[in-house]
Amino acid sequence: MAWTKNGNLASDIYDNPRMLLIGGQWVACSTGQTIPVLDPSTGRQVATLQRGGAEDVDMAVAAARKAFETGPWRQCNGVMREQMMRRLADIMEAHCDELALLEAIDGGKPIAVARQVDVLGNIARLRYAAGWAPRLIGDSFEPAINAPMHCFSTREAIGVAGLIVPWNFPLGMAISKMADALAAGCTMVLKPSELTSLATLRMGELIGQAGFPDGVVNIVTGFGAEAGQALADHRDVDKLSFTGSTAVGKRLLQAATGNLKRLTLELGGKSPAIVFADADSDVSVRGVLRNFTYNSGQICAAGSRVFVHRSIYDSFTDRLAKAADGIRVGPATATGTEMGPLISRSQQDRVNGYIAGGVADGAQIVTGGGHAAQDGGYFIRPTILANSRANMAIRKEEIFGPVATISPFDDDDLVAIAAEANDTEYGLSAFIYTRNLSKAHQMARLIRAGTVRVNGAGLDYTMPFGGYKQSGWGRENGQEGVLSFTELKTVMMAL
Ligand code: NAD
Repeated sequence: MAWTKNGNLASDIYDNPRMLLIGGQWVACSTGQTIPVLDPSTGRQVATLQRGGAEDVDMAVAAARKAFETGPWRQCNGVMREQMMRRLADIMEAHCDELALLEAIDGGKPIAVARQVDVLGNIARLRYAAGWAPRLIGDSFEPAINAPMHCFSTREAIGVAGLIVPWNFPLGMAISKMADALAAGCTMVLKPSELTSLATLRMGELIGQAGFPDGVVNIVTGFGAEAGQALADHRDVDKLSFTGSTAVGKRLLQAATGNLKRLTLELGGKSPAIVFADADSDVSVRGVLRNFTYNSGQICAAGSRVFVHRSIYDSFTDRLAKAADGIRVGPATATGTEMGPLISRSQQDRVNGYIAGGVADGAQIVTGGGHAAQDGGYFIRPTILANSRANMAIRKEEIFGPVATISPFDDDDLVAIAAEANDTEYGLSAFIYTRNLSKAHQMARLIRAGTVRVNGAGLDYTMPFGGYKQSGWGRENGQEGVLSFTELKTVMMAL
């Protein structure tokens, strides 16, 4: 069933509620209820999802358990898993325009970005993880006991994984978690965000074509407090991989205690961007702008607290404001759109609330502020706020919109600068702009965050990603990501 006709969403997606994927079958949810899907560029309903609940999660976990314990998946070695994953990547690539359109309509991403980054970028991510499948090897050991023994370790799939995904990178996060879990040999239940499930459901259909046995990948749509919580609480789920807010992450920590399921938490952030006086001005303006406007600022790793050396503060702020003003804000599928809408009306209101609160607290709008008028869509103009203080909400809390504070720093006391940058309960990312290699290295050491990027370096799925402090537990991506879906077994044989 193709979901586009001549580049438009096929009427099928408008007319028929999307189903749940359980044990290889597309089924209606047991609650009999549905969730409307709105296009954030217009505010109009485009589709309907199943409102899955605890009973559906139960069935999906049972299907995943059966596939893990007794199905043909169990007989698939790493080479076979790699082949299946590569087949899925090829099929998805053949459908990349359709997946990009779904991602743009569902999540408000500019369609060209959705195609290049979210779809093709994550198909590459899937191929990368596939390469790990036959390479998950253990060690051999020389025991301390002086007796003839053969001792070795093996990596085994952890079992049934629950994958809970947010709305800001819906298909990308789903692929990323699923790819690492498949490479490790797990089976899984995927719970996309209730706001953005369409491309993930379409991927579910393509998974069937790639030859994965029934029950290896199950998809249950629904609200977080219902389907999500049921998955987190479930005693037959061995590992939970969650990306979302810190508040929900803390709840999942409690849920995991029931059966001590393994937990990876990728949570919120309030990351600093530090621009030294010697920074390349083109690189730093471009980088800082991108850090807080990419994906309409709905990025966990957004560089939303900008610190600029006082000697260049005025000129830098001026250039940054002009560049922010120049961003073309518009509907996700319109040609030339550089920044789409926010995900929902409530997110738009929330971001507007932060801007208004910041102004009430004494901050000054350098540029932007409030809605960008577009009929029905949830648009906000890129906004820069000066004169903030460290104790203001706009400096402390994750805004998750295209909003940054900008503040000057006076000298190059690196310890003092790092202390200000580290003055947050989060620790996901940091951005440093300088031409001085020694300064860059020293700052990278002083910063308490999982990823430090110097002079505009982009994220890369070959490297571990995750947070210090309240930004999370564990790492995704790279070898670490795949290993997080494995258990390590030690075998000791007396000879
Ligand atoms: P959210 O926490 O509200 O929801 C994330 C997912 O969890 C959704 O699928 C939701 O349905 C589900 N969920 C909600 N309540 C649940 C519960 N009680 N039990 C189980 N599941 C539940 O987050 P969001 O608003 O969708 O996403 C934005 C947040 O995600 C931001 O805080 C952002 O920083 C974070 N994020 C982090 C990373 C990272 O890698 N660190 C990446 C992207 C987004």
